[in-house]
Order: sequence, then C-alpha cells, then structure tokens
Amino acid sequence: MMKRAILGLLMLLSSAGAWAQPLEAPDLVITAVRLEPAFPAPGSTVQIIATIANHGTRTTNDVFAVEFKADRFQIGVRFLADLAPAQSLEVPISWEAKPGETVFRVSVDPFKTISELDESNNTFYKIVNATVNEFTGADLIVRRVSVEAESLTAGEPARLVAIVANIGQGPAAFVSTGFYVDGELIAIETLSESLPTGHEVALAVPWTVEVGERVIRAKADPNGELFELDEANNTWAEYFEFAPLPNRCAQIVSLEFASTSITLLEEMTSLPISQLVNVFIPAIRRQMERDYEGVNVRFYLRQPTGIFSAIFFSPENRLPILGLAPLDFGNLRKDDRGFVFVGSFHVNRGLRLAPPELLAILIAKVASHELGHMLGLNHNPNGGIMNAQAEINPYLVQNEKFRPEDLEYLKRILPMDCR
Ligand SMILES: [Zn+2]
Repeated sequence: MMKRAILGLLMLLSSAGAWAQPLEAPDLVITAVRLEPAFPAPGSTVQIIATIANHGTRTTNDVFAVEFKADRFQIGVRFLADLAPAQSLEVPISWEAKPGETVFRVSVDPFKTISELDESNNTFYKIVNATVNEFTGADLIVRRVSVEAESLTAGEPARLVAIVANIGQGPAAFVSTGFYVDGELIAIETLSESLPTGHEVALAVPWTVEVGERVIRAKADPNGELFELDEANNTWAEYFEFAPLPNRCAQIVSLEFASTSITLLEEMTSLPISQLVNVFIPAIRRQMERDYEGVNVRFYLRQPTGIFSAIFFSPENRLPILGLAPLDFGNLRKDDRGFVFVGSFHVNRGLRLAPPELLAILIAKVASHELGHMLGLNHNPNGGIMNAQAEINPYLVQNEKFRPEDLEYLKRILPMDCR
C-alpha cells in the first residue's frame, strides 16, 4: 500500500514534468540490480536480478531488450514488452561467479526500439566481488590521496599516500590499496592486520615525481578480495601538477572531451564514467606524451590558463574521417583547434569493439596526428604517425611513432630549452 502511494506520487511528479515538456512517452529505467546470493563464492551460480521500471507516461508498445554485460562481455539478453507507466519487472539471468571483482553493466533498450522521455538513464553499473573470505559488514573507502616529497619536482623521490577508512558495520580482515598514476598501476600496498569499523589507516607506496598534470588515483581492495556493503565507493582520484611548469617555448595543449563524447565512450568501453575520466582518458594523454617525447608540448585534461591549443574530442560522426585539423606550418598559431571525432569511432564496428586499452591508443594516435598538423606537419609518404591513412584507419599506425624527419622538425620548433 505504502509503495503504491509512493509510485502515485512519482506519477504526479512526472506528469507535472510532462506539462512543462509536452511529450508523452515511456521512460525505461533500471532501479536496482541485486544478486542471489548477495555474497557469492567463486565458481558458484548466481542469479543477477535487474528491476526494470517505466517512469514515463505511456506504455512501451514495442519489444525492448535488457542486456547484461560482465566486464564488458555480453552474458545475456532478455526481451520484454508492454511495460505500463509506474509498473516494474524483475529480470533474472544466471552467472557463474568468477573470483575477484566483476563490473556488471545492465542496460535497458540498448537497441533503442523505444522512444523515451529520457534516453540518458538506461544503464546501471553494479560491482560484484566473489571471494572465499566471509562477509563481515566491512565497507572500505579512500578518503583522500596525497603526494609526499621534499620537492614536488620531476625526478624527485616521493610517496603516494592514501587514507583508507572502514565505514562499514564490521571489521575488514585486511586492507589492500592500489595506486594509479594516469590510470597505470604503480603498486598495491596491503595492511595485513584487520581494520575495525570506524577506523582509518594511511597506506603509501614509493613513486618518482613526473612532470606536468597527473591524475593520482587510489582504489581500496583493487582485486575484489573482500565482500563489502558497498563495492562502488572504493576509489578516489585527484589532479596534481608537478614542477617544472611549462617554459615560454612550450606549446600548451588542452584535451577537451564533450560530455556527449564521454557518453559514447561509455557505450563503447562499458567503463563507468569515473573510470573513463580517471583511467581511460588519462591513458590517451599518456600515449600522446609518449608520441611527443622530447618535444616541448604540455598536455592538460583540465582547462589550462594562458594561450593554448585544443584537441576537441567531438561526438560528431564524420566517417570515414576520424580527425581533422588545420595545417599550421611553423606553428604560427599557438591557439588553434583540432578535432577527433568520437562519433566516427562509435559507428565504426572495428573501432567500437576494440578493447579499452587498445581503443585509448587508437584515439591517441589520431589525436597525435591532428596535433602534428597543428604544429606544421603535413602527411608523410614514408608513414609514421603522419601517414595519411592514420585519420581513417588508426590500426595502421597503432605501433608507429613520428618518422625521424618529422620528430626532428617538432623538436626544432618546440625545443625543450629556451635559448
Ligand atoms: Zn592528416
């Protein structure tokens, strides 16, 4: 009865919304994903149950799918029809629990057969651990990360420090924490004692400071060895910038992602948004830095100050073209803009299905190619990153660097030392 009253209220709210926006349509959402049993042993068979609801104002008058993915691989699809407003349904599938952490992505109407009031609320992420350790009510979070060093200058020895707390209702038998810089694992540190509820501990690993903007991330229980009340609150990430700052000879480059491009990348990679932003996109930057090693270019994910060029990762589909940039011989313009068309990647099957680690490299190669144009490089018949085919088929250049003559030009116009 109580539930009915709440649903009735929701209906009132959504029909009030419908006045402001004169649309009558269904709105499919996933309100919950749960497991039976909730804390599975590795190898056991588990029911994954998604609750699908219609928060819209019309019945779905067509068949629609519910798709289940485990670590980006499809494990099941179910089809439903005729879900009325305020109605909900439970959709189960069975799965054999693999040891450690699994990220489930459940999406309703992934093939977009239903026109909805809101198309942006159709996915649900659920992190599940399967372990032989018993459930104690623990819930680990990372409160913050910091960098400790004599001086925060490139090449200096430092320590990455994470404050990990147990905010659950029972002890954590041990506390492992993984430390990542721009998405790359630096090390995992483990406190082998139990951490009681309400307590916190500082864990640290050694690191050598790297120049420029870095995303430092810590994740408690990175291998999914503990059962927790909430598996989705284990990570914390922060941006730092390390000295020396760019000198006056440097070309500053901002890597800008449209929010709709991030949505497309989420669909392509099945990575939760926080992981896209703190792991996948920094990996693109990392690859570009490798391509431009020895050239005085500084890449930023947050908007830099002063004069900068930008690579805009646009949601547009311009197939067969994956990127576009002005040719600026001599790099006369320090504030030009180039494009990488994430929408083109999204509709190209061969690119869309690439594993995330490879996709990040392919996107980076197109971005490095476009930046090459913005710095004055033309297509190079000898190949390398400036191969004319790079912006159509980046697989051709996935392992390529700039040709020596191109790299020599880049180093000449953007020398590391200002003399
Ligand atoms: Zn080109």
